[in-house]
Amino acid sequence: MSKTVTLKKNEDHRIKAGHLWIFSNEILRIDGSPEQGDIVQIRNHAGLFLGVGFYNAQSLIAVRLLTRDVEEIDFRFFRRKIEAALRLRQKLYPTSVAYRLIHGESDDLPGLIVDKYGDLLVVQTLAFGMERRLTLICDVLESLLHPEGIIERNESHLRLLEGMPQKKGVIRGSVHPVEVAENGIRYQVDLLEGQKTGFFLDQRENRASIRKYAAGARVLDCFSNEGGFGLNAASAGAASVLGVDISEPTVERANSNARLNGLESKIRFVAADAFAFLADEAKGENRYDLIILDPPSFAKNKKSVTTARQAYRELHSLSLGLLSPGGILATASCSHHITGEAFMLTAQQGANMRDVRLKLLEWHGASPDHPVIPAMPETQYLKFGIFEVRH
Ligand code: SAH
Repeated sequence: MSKTVTLKKNEDHRIKAGHLWIFSNEILRIDGSPEQGDIVQIRNHAGLFLGVGFYNAQSLIAVRLLTRDVEEIDFRFFRRKIEAALRLRQKLYPTSVAYRLIHGESDDLPGLIVDKYGDLLVVQTLAFGMERRLTLICDVLESLLHPEGIIERNESHLRLLEGMPQKKGVIRGSVHPVEVAENGIRYQVDLLEGQKTGFFLDQRENRASIRKYAAGARVLDCFSNEGGFGLNAASAGAASVLGVDISEPTVERANSNARLNGLESKIRFVAADAFAFLADEAKGENRYDLIILDPPSFAKNKKSVTTARQAYRELHSLSLGLLSPGGILATASCSHHITGEAFMLTAQQGANMRDVRLKLLEWHGASPDHPVIPAMPETQYLKFGIFEVRH
């Protein structure tokens, strides 16, 4: 008999609404002894066909839905899905050579991330079924895009939840240093050693949005990574920019990006812990007109939500204490487990601690090459607020 996963009664509503995951406790019966990463049919309690997906007995996400049609999961299937994802990116960024080509579940390819940087591709597989088909997926990517090389950056801790090891390396062709341009700024990106897949593509529009507040401003860019926010501020006329990041190699790359753009005279990146740096700065006289906060995720799971809220509150309070009257705070959270409302509250709590008032000017999510599926809240993670601060 064909490999089939049958859901318990009433466990099909989320799937019908557009969600792609079936959790292990929603399953009534498994027939045909599927192995890890096998394709299974998904049926509801009454036996109605719901779709086809990857099975993984080791993961709490037991099945990831690939299609709601009866079809083979083969070269043609992946080619059609990847072509659709590519068409969307070409519409979004017709002149750009760097974008997220495939954003997993949001592109109907659960557990597959592909970023394009010129003629190089960076792949992450976060589901066992995708990992098993990586050769096929690389064949499709080569047939469509003819990249010079494909790199895998499979260091995500999420892989451990799927029973897969963490690793990275070149899997096709060869790699070379790449330069990407965004909002008129050039970046040298290290696809093998840089964080995540090399560059944080999800903040593209947000990096551009702070430019309008930068003219003449003394800017502090905390968690600056390759320097994206700070470089935008400097090129948009900031008086001075200081970037802070805990990683030495990252700071070196940010400083070389500053030189690449001829902005080194007014921008400087230093290696430090942002919390300690902000606390130290409060003891001195330096004040800023624009502060950007773009920390890594503080809540990697539900358990860490309370400490994450505290960390955001502390960051907001520390930085609001360093802003000049009328200054601007631009703050981001990439923790899916912290809702927009909860994040906004930490900004307000920080303001209460400093006895200042906030005015929200802008509120954004991730760039549109990281689409959100409303029926699948897990696809929404990035929040970005820009506040004017009144004393
Ligand atoms: N703003 C960046 C992305 C930031 S990613 C951009 O637009 O590209 C988060 C960064 O925070 C990483 O570069 C990481 O090295 C840094 N980081 C993590 N913990 C830190 C800490 N305690 N203090 C300062 N930087 C930290």
